[in-house]
Amino acid sequence: MASRIQAIRGMHDVLPPESGLWQYLEDRVRGVLQSYGYAQIRMPIVEITELFKRSIGEVTDIVEKEMYTFEDRNGDSLTLRPEGTASCVRAGIEHGFLHNQSVRLWYQGPMFRHERPQKGRYRQFHQIGVETFGMRGPDIDLEVILLTRGIWQALGLEGLTLQLNTLGTPDERAAYREHLVAYLQDHAQSLDEDSRRRLEGNPLRVLDSKNSEMQQVIADAPSLMQFLGEESRRHFATVCSGLDDCGVAYVVNPRLVRGLDYYTLTVFEWVTDQLGAQGTVCAGGRYDGLVEQLGGRPTPAVGFALGVERVVTLLRDSAVEQELDPLHAYLVVAGDAAVRPALLLAERLRDRVPGLRLLTHCGGGGLKSQFKKADRSGAICALVVGEDELASGRIGVKALRRESAQQNLSEDELVAFLQRQIVTRGEGVG
Ligand code: ATP
Ligand code: MG
Repeated sequence: MASRIQAIRGMHDVLPPESGLWQYLEDRVRGVLQSYGYAQIRMPIVEITELFKRSIGEVTDIVEKEMYTFEDRNGDSLTLRPEGTASCVRAGIEHGFLHNQSVRLWYQGPMFRHERPQKGRYRQFHQIGVETFGMRGPDIDLEVILLTRGIWQALGLEGLTLQLNTLGTPDERAAYREHLVAYLQDHAQSLDEDSRRRLEGNPLRVLDSKNSEMQQVIADAPSLMQFLGEESRRHFATVCSGLDDCGVAYVVNPRLVRGLDYYTLTVFEWVTDQLGAQGTVCAGGRYDGLVEQLGGRPTPAVGFALGVERVVTLLRDSAVEQELDPLHAYLVVAGDAAVRPALLLAERLRDRVPGLRLLTHCGGGGLKSQFKKADRSGAICALVVGEDELASGRIGVKALRRESAQQNLSEDELVAFLQRQIVTRGEGVG
C-alpha cells in the first residue's frame, strides 16, 4: 500500500456534523452583520509579502516568525495572509473606495500563521472580521462593539467579558514609550528573552507578553492613560459612557495593547475563561494610521476579527441548543422500477417546497437497510416510493423521530405535510 498523506500540522478538516456548527455560526453572524448594514468583501488569500511587513510591522510575532512566505515562479515574495485588515486596506486604496466615504465591510475566511499548534491555536484558522473606514468619532467605535455583543446574543453565548483600553495617538504613545522603556530597562533582569528583544524594537509589545513570570513587571509598569491628551481622553470617555448607556459591561485593562502595531485610541477584546490560555475570541479597535501607512490618504478606521475555531468550541461546549439543520426527509426507493419515478418526485418536491432538505437514496439495497440509513441520516421522516405507491399514486410517509404508523399521502398532501415540517421544524410529524 502506498504511504498515507496527512493534513499539515495545525491545519484541520472540518467534518460533518461539526461543519453544521460552523454553518450555524456563519449564518447567525452574517444575519447580525446585515442587520447593521455591513457589506461583504472577498479578498485574495495570497498577497505580496511587503503588504504585511508594512502594515503589521517588522517587530511583531507575525512578521518575525509566523508568516507563510514563499517565492512564486516569477521570483516574487508572496505570503499567505495572516490576517485580513491589511488586504482590506490594500483593496480600499486600490479601488478608491476609502476616500471621503463611510464604509462598513466584513469578510470571512482562512488565515495562516506558523505558530505552535495547541488548543485554540492553529496554523490555518478562520476569522470573521469587520473593517469600517472614514468615521472619526467615537460613535463608530461604539457601534462596532455593540455589533460584537449582538453576535454573542445571536449565538446564545454568555459569559464573555469585554476588555477595553485606549492607545492614544502616535504622539502620546511616543511620550509614553520613553517612560515605559526607562521602566523596563530598570527591570531588565525580570524580562524574558522575547521581551528584551521587543524592548529594542517595539516596547509596548512587552505588555502583551503571555509569559506568566512577566505578569508582575507588567502590572507595575507605568500606564499609558497618564499620557493621554484631552481629545483622546474624551474619545475614550464617550465610548465608555456609550457602553454604559447600552448596558454593556466592560473592564478597562490598561495592559491591553494588541499584538499589531497599527492600532490607535480604542482597543478591545472579548475574552472567556473557558478556553484556557487561548481565551480571546474577538479582538479589535481603531487604526487611524494604517491607510496612510499603506499609501492612501489619511482615513480613520475601526475593525475587529473574531476567531471562528474558538467560538465554535464555545458553542460546542455551551448548553445552548443550536438549531442545526437536519434533513427533513429521506426518500426510500423500493425496487428498480421506482428509481426513476422517485428521482422525478424528489425533483418536484424540491421545486414545490422551498427550504426542503430531502435526500434521495442512491445505490440500491433492500428496504430494511434503506430504513436504517434513513434513521442514521437524522431525517425527520422517511418517504417511501415502491411498486404499491406507484400503482396507487400515493407516497408512504413514516416518522423517524417518534413512534407512529406509516401514512400514505397524495403528492399534494405530501407537499402540504412537508411545508408544515419546515415551519414547525419537525414538531408536527406523526
Ligand atoms: P493571540 O493573542 O491569541 O495570539 P492575536 O492577538 O494574535 O491572538 P488577532 O491577530 O487579533 O489575534 O486575531 C483575532 C482573533 O483571531 C484572536 O482573538 C483569536 O480569536 C483568533 N486567532 C488568532 N490567532 C489564531 C490562531 N493561531 N488560531 C486560532 N485562532 C486564532
Ligand atoms: Mg497571536
